Amino acid sequence: MSENTSTAATATEPLHEIYWRETEPVTPGPPLIEDIDCDVCLVGGGYTALWTAHFLKLAEPGLDIHIVEADYAGAGASGHNDGFVTPTIGHNLSTLVRRFGVDRAKLAYTLVGRSILELAHFCRKYEIDADFETRGYYQVATDQAQIALLRKDLAIAERIGAASGLALLGRDQMRERIGSPAIRAAVKVGGATVNPHRLVRGLAAVVRGQGVHIHEQTSATGVEAHGGGYTISTPRARITARKLVLATNAYQHRFQEFRRAVIPVWSYAAVTEPLSDERLAQLHWPDREGFVEAGNFIVFARLTAQHRLLVGGGPVRYAMGRDMSERRHIDNPAATRVLREVLARYFPCWHDVPFTHSYGGCVAITREFVPHVGAVGDNLFYGYGYCGNGIAVTHTSGKVLRDLILGRESSYTGLLFVNRTEQRFPPEPFTFVAAKAMSSLLALQDRYPKVGKR
Ligand SMILES: Cc1cc2nc3c(=O)[nH]c(=O)nc-3n(C[C@H](O)[C@H](O)[C@H](O)COP(=O)(O)OP(=O)(O)OC[C@H]3O[C@@H](n4cnc5c(N)ncnc54)[C@H](O)[C@@H]3O)c2cc1C
Repeated sequence: MSENTSTAATATEPLHEIYWRETEPVTPGPPLIEDIDCDVCLVGGGYTALWTAHFLKLAEPGLDIHIVEADYAGAGASGHNDGFVTPTIGHNLSTLVRRFGVDRAKLAYTLVGRSILELAHFCRKYEIDADFETRGYYQVATDQAQIALLRKDLAIAERIGAASGLALLGRDQMRERIGSPAIRAAVKVGGATVNPHRLVRGLAAVVRGQGVHIHEQTSATGVEAHGGGYTISTPRARITARKLVLATNAYQHRFQEFRRAVIPVWSYAAVTEPLSDERLAQLHWPDREGFVEAGNFIVFARLTAQHRLLVGGGPVRYAMGRDMSERRHIDNPAATRVLREVLARYFPCWHDVPFTHSYGGCVAITREFVPHVGAVGDNLFYGYGYCGNGIAVTHTSGKVLRDLILGRESSYTGLLFVNRTEQRFPPEPFTFVAAKAMSSLLALQDRYPKVGKR
């Protein structure tokens, strides 16, 4: 390879860093250095803990609430997801109805749908500059098998009375909305896109303003039950709390109680340089809605407020022993290659636009593919396992946890993902082997839709 070629290759190599972090630099706050006694301690500084603290403070302003976060608020998935705000609760709608029945699925969709509206309202009320765009998004199909999946979901939505305004749009109708030759059919679903990092940073600022203490750079290294509550150890100080909430999502397996309830699975995205006006004029996409393909390994794309194209999804990776090391996994050349192919397939006119960022993050997968939110006894609470769809559901979970902590029964505490008996993953190496086999089967089904039951 000539020197020139080598330099050019380096120049187009994307950064393996999370794009969103560039949109608002963070200086983490100081760690906890003094022992504390409080009413509620939450471990984890993502959406789940922050919404729970927010709703608790609204309900009981006198509560003394402390959050400990290993890095900074929003350092986890909350700050680096792809920003699709959807009503999805783990499964697609038809699977959810089959597993939990019409009434429970409908209630869950209704309350998570309400969360989407409330998120928009929250951003407006607190002037959070998170580019929250409530334009809905499309579930798109690129082949007959995916069209059949869309039809099935639509039929279920009709059955549960949630299909108002939903319709299967054909190729020509879609060309008027998104000028991609790959899209053969689609259904428009209510939802939004957001800058996830700015949302979580804005939420953290609101929660601080409510009087909640957020201790960044403070890792919970151990938790121990005592008579009336829990003691949480951190490197320099201890917290005693009447109630403890463990809200660390993909990291939740690090607490013994939850070791086999959840696995972290790497999911990848890539972001292009900002598209120039000339580039944008090459494609008809007047309303800028994002879209998600109806496959097993979904792929999706959306524009950011800065007119960058984010393309994500494709094959996922589970690393033996629940390895979450960014150093080892954030750069996945195979995933970047797949995402380039996705870009070219959906947007041939932009096939040569360079990616400036290509990175991954860990989604938290549970065995039943629904979140786990609930209580162990009177003083320990948990919320995790959103299976890659958590922006809206964590808001709903915040209300569930509020009601559980305050001992209230409500429509939230009866939701289908609350206080379930959780199925566990097998010990290693069986989880690794099973994850590999499952992901090969799912990839095969995407390629040959008739393989096995979807
Ligand atoms: C790559 C990717 C793309 C995604 N895309 C979407 C999407 O488009 N739409 C959508 O709805 N959802 C998406 N999700 C899922 C969504 O981001 C999550 O469900 C949601 O952010 C979970 O929030 P959380 O607060 O439960 O967890 P997190 O945001 O992960 O917060 C947990 C926090 O706990 C901290 N922590 C861990 N261990 C400790 C400890 N011992 N002590 C103290 N702190 C600790 C971590 O540092 C972290 O900040 C995506 C997730 C990923 C990873």
